[in-house]
Amino acid sequence: MNYYSTQHQAPLATLEKAVVKGLAEDRGLYMPERINPLPASFFEEIDKLTFHQIATRVAEAFFGEDIPADTLQQIVCDTLSFDVPAVRVTDRIYSLELFHGPTLAFKDVGARFMARLLGYYSNKAHDSRLVNVLVATSGDTGSAVANGFLGVEGVHVYVLYPKGKVSPIQECQFTTLGRNITALEVDGVFDDCQALVKSAFMDADLNAHMKLTSANSINVARFLPQSFYYFYAYAQMKALGLADRLVVCVPSGNFGNICSALFGKRMGLPVHRFIAANNANDIFYQYLLTGQYSPRPSTQTIANAMDVGDPSNFARILDLYGHSHEAICNDISGATYSDSQIADTLRTCLQQTGYQLDPHGACGYRALQEGLREGETGIFLETAHPAKFKDTVEAITHQPITIPERLQAFMQGTKQSIAIGKDFDGFKSFLMSR
Ligand SMILES: *Cc1c(COP(=O)(O)O)cnc(C)c1O
Repeated sequence: MNYYSTQHQAPLATLEKAVVKGLAEDRGLYMPERINPLPASFFEEIDKLTFHQIATRVAEAFFGEDIPADTLQQIVCDTLSFDVPAVRVTDRIYSLELFHGPTLAFKDVGARFMARLLGYYSNKAHDSRLVNVLVATSGDTGSAVANGFLGVEGVHVYVLYPKGKVSPIQECQFTTLGRNITALEVDGVFDDCQALVKSAFMDADLNAHMKLTSANSINVARFLPQSFYYFYAYAQMKALGLADRLVVCVPSGNFGNICSALFGKRMGLPVHRFIAANNANDIFYQYLLTGQYSPRPSTQTIANAMDVGDPSNFARILDLYGHSHEAICNDISGATYSDSQIADTLRTCLQQTGYQLDPHGACGYRALQEGLREGETGIFLETAHPAKFKDTVEAITHQPITIPERLQAFMQGTKQSIAIGKDFDGFKSFLMSR
């Protein structure tokens, strides 16, 4: 299958090119040329299939023309080495727990899939030069990508993160690894990190000097596999008899996660409607209200992985809906919450249900609490484990959070990172010296 750019200026790309290049020549985001629907029979029996079986069917619809079936199945099963359970919070609200992977956030799914796909292509390639993965992170992407790629031969990863703006637990997940992972501490905000990465891809000297690729959610190999768990969520809710008017609520920052859900819907997934839950960075929420997209610098919140002022994947959503504001509003509604509302939600949910949310999931839970209509059942994505935000959450709930063992292991390592400024010239000369 070929991939086109949301800017429609760049030539069509193969899957391999789209994965290795990340961003199209015209700075657009790659989109699959076709979205293959899955048959009604698949949805009828979906509650009898395993997560691996469901994900393999979905993966074939996207990647089946490009990757041999047995290889693809292997990649899918290796990627999904952990469960994604739908857990009851109230009678009408369920939590899709996406934090059972190695770095305790949903980004493990996309990062692990992409690392394996890139590994497959770099084994096949005649060009034996090192592939350099550049990734900007507001917290969780860096850890998921660094861990997904750790020790993958032929690949070096540079993680760019905003100094002082990620939690210590997040930071240690990508600064303590060493080997083929280099952490770059940028004196700026997340948007500066993202801008540096985008500029690097556009820079002719750098591209002549080294082979560059991106592992941000703009990469099709990271973002499409996220659709797997929406199908599995539906299957679990169907098994409970709760899938008839299912509302899926996605705490959103760069909008990669919800975008993969929208692809799922286009493939026939019978989700009734979607809610995109924002923190105070409500650019998408404002777009829904006004029809105007007005990016602005991000503000720091306690749901920091959603502190995005110019969500990259908005371009994909526009393209998917033919730039129709009306069509977008038909499928997706929005919500936005201040830090104090998020804190309130964490506290009251724990008191009333015993369920411990993280600050991101709290936005999702609250949007369902406020937004569910008669006859609907909601499921929100619990995008990270609350222990990743231990200090913040404990200060709000005054209840201790146990840190899972796999997270504790990271905290024993030594931080190694290189400080850089937010101007491109400094970043460029650093990379040119490598
Ligand atoms: C990345 C992240 C988000 C936002 O996901 P997008 O795909 O960027 O919209 C939400 N919650 C957590 C915990 C994250 O790490």
